[in-house]
Amino acid sequence: MKTPMDFQSRTTTRPTAAATVSFPSPGGRLPVADTVDEIYVAGRWVRGAGELIESVDPATGEVFATLHGAVPGDVDNAVDAGRRAVAASGWATMLPHERAAVLYRIGNAVEAHAERIAALQTIDTGKTLAETRALAHSAAGTFRYTAAALETAEEVVTPPRGPFVTVSTYEPMGVVGAITPWNSPIASDAQKIAPALAAGNAVVSKPPVWTPWVTLLLARLAEDAGLPAGLLSVLPGPGRTVGDRLARHPGIGKISFTGGTRTGRTLAHVAAEKLMPITLELGGKSPTVVFEDADLEQALAGVLFGIFSSSGQSCIAGSRVFVHRSIHDEFVARLVDGARALRVGPGTDPATQVAPMVGHEHRDAVAAMVDDAVRTGAQVLCGGSVPDDPALADGAYYLPTVLAGVDNSATICQEEVFGPVAVVLPFDDESDLVAQANDTVYGLACGIWTADYRRAWRTAKAIQAGTVWVNTYKQFSISTPFSGLKDSGIGTEKGRDGIRSYMNQKSIYLDMSGAPLPWAGR
Ligand code: NAD
Repeated sequence: MKTPMDFQSRTTTRPTAAATVSFPSPGGRLPVADTVDEIYVAGRWVRGAGELIESVDPATGEVFATLHGAVPGDVDNAVDAGRRAVAASGWATMLPHERAAVLYRIGNAVEAHAERIAALQTIDTGKTLAETRALAHSAAGTFRYTAAALETAEEVVTPPRGPFVTVSTYEPMGVVGAITPWNSPIASDAQKIAPALAAGNAVVSKPPVWTPWVTLLLARLAEDAGLPAGLLSVLPGPGRTVGDRLARHPGIGKISFTGGTRTGRTLAHVAAEKLMPITLELGGKSPTVVFEDADLEQALAGVLFGIFSSSGQSCIAGSRVFVHRSIHDEFVARLVDGARALRVGPGTDPATQVAPMVGHEHRDAVAAMVDDAVRTGAQVLCGGSVPDDPALADGAYYLPTVLAGVDNSATICQEEVFGPVAVVLPFDDESDLVAQANDTVYGLACGIWTADYRRAWRTAKAIQAGTVWVNTYKQFSISTPFSGLKDSGIGTEKGRDGIRSYMNQKSIYLDMSGAPLPWAGR
């Protein structure tokens, strides 16, 4: 069996025409215009002055495209242009249904190009086409839902305590920064860009270096859909330079960030210094709990999906599997059989369930965490290595892995792995379970498998998590708010109020009496 080290010295293959590559897609080849080496700054497509980004297909290890990224100066231009575009286009003062019309068109364009987006995202992230298709359609839905929410959002006339009409109104923040991770690009883009635009702002998006392409394609679709130039810039580049400048820029009214907790904490310090609102959607180490009365078939399918879909590269991955002691051995045996049976392969193969990870560097980091856990006492029940199938030798694959034999205080139970690695842990009763499940710095998600809905409710209320699923897992709706507790984040995304989080609230008192205030005594 090969170890990750066997792959570390693998060299990548460069494309022959790096500046203008086109991507294979199920419907043919994407037009070159969608894939040239250009970033989108202040309403113009330009070749970036930043470092060369080599995009590697994680299934093959080959470089499929190159891109010159952004530099911090692009942030300055993008913010200036955003501010000017908001004023010149009347975007902020446009009637809600007029802004909504543009968002509907962007949503429809995303839907119409879902296959191209999916193909691009699969080659860039490694994910299965089934998943990237679903993400593209969900992004289209996000734009349309947000447009509908915008058209129906109401401002409140509050009960007065004097001769006034008092109205609580909302206004855009100006230019908003959206900083996103690599694991689900089109979905996290839409989740931020749609509500921020709906609110009447301009948006400067900073996608990650590992997966810049889908966000750039989204910008092309938005441009074609009639979004006024300058309202959206897309600046792929390193977080420590481009991302940092974006967060610190005095013209940025808010940062909406999704990514790791360490980066989130750094940005929270920047926001504190500027007294700037910030939304942080961060990491997790989510418990998934199987009670002794659960439908074990249903629980098994849910636990497998919860940790191994997206190759575990999901903030809400159910990575700590708590199983009641009375069924522990039986359930874990079935879990291990299930994990071994999962089909590992390229994201383009419709049979694949576990696709490659985003890249070799990340795969090797995941492997190192597993190796470390094993050195400190964890037992590998399955996986724990790269596949030995020669057809997968060049890809960034890692086998679905189940670990046991450690308690919840072990590093592997406390730190986010962000890979296809589950740890199984027994529990004795509800109070033992709640204590263990909550013994983590994170509070993102939780899954509960039981036939007893009173117990489900009690446990759901007791476990510290922004989202709890009962007898299901990893299901989402744009209309349902999403947030993390503790080190998993600050603030909420999605839902009808998602737009409001990109607005400043203002209260206006209108005097209805026509009389001078009595205090002046005249
Ligand atoms: P990351 O924190 O390394 O990077 C996220 C983004 O922040 C990237 O665009 C990066 O370039 C940028 N960045 C890095 N340092 C920065 C800095 N100093 N200033 C400004 N920007 C900076 O995270 P990642 O590895 O890309 O993503 C994986 C993480 O994201 C995991 O922890 C995962 O749990 C989390 N995540 C959370 C959610 C959620 O909704 N809670 C969703 C998806 C992913």
